[in-house]
Amino acid sequence: MIPKPSVMLSSEAIAARVRELGAKITQDYKGRHLVLVSILKGSFLFAADLARAIDLEDVRIDFLGLRSYGSGTESSGVVQITHDLTFPVENKDVLIVEDIVDTGLSMQYLLDNLATRKPSSVKICSLLHKPARTRVAISIDYLGFTIEDKFVVGYGLDYAEKFRNLPYIGVIES
Ligand code: 5GP
Repeated sequence: MIPKPSVMLSSEAIAARVRELGAKITQDYKGRHLVLVSILKGSFLFAADLARAIDLEDVRIDFLGLRSYGSGTESSGVVQITHDLTFPVENKDVLIVEDIVDTGLSMQYLLDNLATRKPSSVKICSLLHKPARTRVAISIDYLGFTIEDKFVVGYGLDYAEKFRNLPYIGVIES
């Protein structure tokens, strides 16, 4: 049995930060046609909360499923699309909603892939960033929290598909 993860970021702290990010995004995209692209599976809770914190008339939401190959908790940068967008994003303002930028390899793949679809702009909103493990520098336009180099779970993030339903971001103590 894996012990219950200890709290790194409480659900209250996350909710407060999501409200701030939503307010900033609302301000920045006023009068524009925003497409939120939630990266599955990890960002499903973050995207659901963030979408409700954005007060704009024209917000569309789509999902892009990614599977990143690697050994255990290491990302390799080899990424497979498991679920594609359901509508074109050409000439749209795309905001990628991601759970965590770790090495940056998955995000680089995603940026390259989305660029081929000719959106008018692409920005990144990530709940978490682990700068200690950067391999490709990614400029994150809207960032929830910078965290230390620990493997985190909860609020959408998993360990072997478990813990996605935890309402907080936690760490499995070994
Ligand atoms: P990157 O390609 O930036 O190294 O990794 C991105 C993906 O790896 C994230 O979208 C996430 O799915 C997974 N990942 C990276 N760090 C963590 C972590 O601490 N916990 C969990 N659960 N997944 C992580």
